[in-house]
Formats: sequence, C-alpha cells, structure tokens
Amino acid sequence: MNFNEVDVLFAEEEIQEKVAQLGRQITADYKGEDLLVVGILKGAFIFMADLVRKIDIPLELDFMSVSSYGTSTTSSGEVRIMKDLDYSIENKSVLIVEDIVDTGLTLNYICEILKKRDPKSVKICCLLDKPSRRKSPIRPDYVGYSIPDEFVVGYGLDYAGQYRGYPAVCILKPSVYEK
Ligand code: 5GP
Repeated sequence: MNFNEVDVLFAEEEIQEKVAQLGRQITADYKGEDLLVVGILKGAFIFMADLVRKIDIPLELDFMSVSSYGTSTTSSGEVRIMKDLDYSIENKSVLIVEDIVDTGLTLNYICEILKKRDPKSVKICCLLDKPSRRKSPIRPDYVGYSIPDEFVVGYGLDYAGQYRGYPAVCILKPSVYEK
C-alpha cells in the first residue's frame, strides 16, 4: 500500500471480524431458505468472496454489473446494466452484496428491476454505507460500517481502476484525485 496516497480506515483483521459477524447474522436469518447471493461487480468481489465463506447454509451465487462511477469520485446518477444475472430469481431469497451504498441510486435501480422478477424477497448487504449522501429511499438490511462522506478505496473498491487489491479499506487522499 502506498501511504502517500491513502490513510487506512479499516484494517484487514478488523474487516474479517466484521464480515464474520455479518455472515453469522445472515446464516441465522436465512436458515431453511433458497438463498441466492447476487454480487454487484466489480467492487463487491472481494467482500462477497469473504462473506459467502462465512455464511453456513447452502447458497447459490450470481453476478450483475452496472455502470456507475467511471473514473470520477461523484455519482452521475446514470445507471445501466452491463451484465445481467445468468439465472432466474423467481421464488428465491435474493441477497444483494454491494461494496458501498452512497446516493443509493444504483441499488434503488437494481432492486426495482429484480423485484419485478418475482423473487421471494430482496435484501441488501453492504460493507460500507454513507447515509449522509442518500438520494433514494434505499436502506440496506445488513451494513458493515457506516462511514462519513470520504472517498474510500481498497478491499475491492477502486479509483480509476486502481487500489482494488489493497487489503484494507482506505481513505484516498484528495491530493490524488485533485491532481
Ligand atoms: P450510489 O449509486 O449509491 O451513489 O453509488 C454506488 C457505487 O458508487 C458503489 O458501488 C461504488 O462503485 C461507487 N462509490 C460510491 N462511493 C464510493 C467511494 O467512496 N469509493 C469508491 N471507490 N466507490 C464509491
């Protein structure tokens, strides 16, 4: 990690403990159900990989990809499906896994689409939540951390395609994106 560019917000070990807690809660809540975990690419891939290994019930996986941020640090509000789910979600208990909920516009759009496909339920699990930035009625059901309005990278989250492999969640120093 390049500490000239980032400050650590949540360290690797701390995140693992949080993910294990979320996994235990989800395991208890979904016992006996047909759980389908839907990851939103690309940001959620590391969180999802860790989370599903902490959910101790049978589950299936699928992925969706939507356009959101591009290379800037502010939401355009424009959401487009780049990759849809591979499988039907009819009668399934769908748990959407997202890296971060910011304005909530992306998830609002995804939830609206998925709810039209007759799932048994649709819930949201996000690692990070910025409630102060919300512009839609979305309320995640499982939240790792609520954070202030800072631009974060690492643990799957990028800036201009970089930093996804950093093991910690870090605040990107403004000097990097104000260049
Ligand atoms: P929303 O539609 O909720 O405004 O935006 C959600 C998406 O914006 C996230 O999935 C993520 O891709 C991106 N995003 C929002 N805040 C941040 C942030 O602090 N850091 C990074 N890397 N992406 C963010």
